[in-house]
Amino acid sequence: MRTITHWIDGAPRASESGRTSPVYNPATGEVQAEVGLASLAEVDAAVASAKAAFVSWRAASIARRTEVMFKFRQIVDSRRAEIADLISIEHGKVPSDAAGELARGIENVEFACGIAPMLKGGYSEQVSTGVDVYSIRQPLGVVAGITPFNFPAMVPMWMFANAIACGNTFILKPSEKDPSVAMLIAEMLKEAGLPDGVFTVLQGDKVAVDGILAHPDIAAVSFVGSTPIAQYVYSTGTANGKRVQALGGAKNHMLVLPDADVDLAADSAVSAAYGSAGERCMAVSVVVAVGSVADPLVDAIAARLPKLRVGPGTDPSAEMGPLITGEHRDKVAGYLESATVQGATVVVDGREGDFPSQGFFLGASLVDNAAPGMAVYDDEIFGPVLTVVRVATYDEGLALINGNRYGNGTAIFTRDGGAARQFQFDVSVGMVGVNVPIPVPVSYYSFGGWKASIFGDTSIYGPSGVDFYTRAKVVTSRWPDPATSSVDLGFPRTS
Ligand code: NAD
Repeated sequence: MRTITHWIDGAPRASESGRTSPVYNPATGEVQAEVGLASLAEVDAAVASAKAAFVSWRAASIARRTEVMFKFRQIVDSRRAEIADLISIEHGKVPSDAAGELARGIENVEFACGIAPMLKGGYSEQVSTGVDVYSIRQPLGVVAGITPFNFPAMVPMWMFANAIACGNTFILKPSEKDPSVAMLIAEMLKEAGLPDGVFTVLQGDKVAVDGILAHPDIAAVSFVGSTPIAQYVYSTGTANGKRVQALGGAKNHMLVLPDADVDLAADSAVSAAYGSAGERCMAVSVVVAVGSVADPLVDAIAARLPKLRVGPGTDPSAEMGPLITGEHRDKVAGYLESATVQGATVVVDGREGDFPSQGFFLGASLVDNAAPGMAVYDDEIFGPVLTVVRVATYDEGLALINGNRYGNGTAIFTRDGGAARQFQFDVSVGMVGVNVPIPVPVSYYSFGGWKASIFGDTSIYGPSGVDFYTRAKVVTSRWPDPATSSVDLGFPRTS
């Protein structure tokens, strides 16, 4: 059995903990490899390497640091298909979807290539007679990123590209469910000229995460994953004095007004709900249908589902792959059971689909007449289940969205510009789409939800990422003529 290793000091390093976790091929259900899970001693080794590398990496010029990012971008670009296939074989999403993930990840590398202007400070001349003040941005030191299974390339790229370009050294703790892409990224960063120790991969589970959160030589932690773990990482990391940004789960609502184009809304809902088998933090999981649009919209969505081609990534015609594990597939399927019991209507049942019997497949499901208090509405399902809640008015729909505990993404579908503008003003959600179902911001904005979808003050990537991975230093400077020097115990004033 192939064993996936750590990447420490610029080379693969096998775990000696004796603990491993299976890595499945979700399309076949087979265990294709195992990943060695870090011990605390291995966390220490990873941090020691990153700490040693920080001394010279922080002193490398901005030009040198961005040169590595430019080369890395070139290498990734030339190997897109290979990376997409690797994502597909461990995650299950089809290669075209994996290529899309990669493209959105590369955007962040491109942002990091142009990071120089973001690292500029301010300068004020003559704040007092002969005195100037200026601010500079410096890296934090060793920073860590803990990432989820659902975007094994893009989410690490949200983090390490900026962190490294800012002069930090970075330890990636990828999901143990699809750990290989991180290793390929490490190899490509080395090929791009990144010095050993600047990028580390620490494979592991809770032991590694807890080791990171407790380690005195780690200055900051970026986390993306489910809400309970995000909250845990935030509270533990900050209690240990670290800077932490922790992005959590989601329940993204798509509000459809009666004037919306039904076919456009149905196409968008289906694309955003079932792409990547619903395993996206920005997936639309609830359609909020206002008034008369509900019947035609449910019919239009239902009509599209039998046409979705569910299959393995190796089948070029497949549009939707399997779920990440058999356990998760069964959990998602369980929501269809509870939906019926709790009074919702299962319009399309994905358990009845025509797809390969091996592997962790589940077809697209549509649940109508859902409401708060039902598990199918309340929980983040993270699978191919789209729920419809019918409301009478815009205000009722808005209250539903604002009353939800999550606030990652949302969208409004309408032809009425005024209604859309009012929605963007009213809604308590961090990322809003107007006739755009998955409003993931481009890399020069920043990504972040509200409420239980984020813990910490800073969004991830873009300008917020630069803020997160740097700290400011303000220098007050005077070049006095020694002839005018005297002792003065008064508090310095401007004059
Ligand atoms: P997860 O929370 O189970 O795992 C995320 C990371 O935390 C992994 O690296 C995992 O090893 C680690 N982890 C898991 N359990 C832990 C524990 N008890 N203690 C310490 N560390 C632990 O999430 P997942 O299932 O890999 O990913 C899916 C979740 O991520 C969904 O909730 C999804 O909404 C969320 N997500 C959010 C965003 C966002 O930007 N807000 C993006 C992608 C995914």
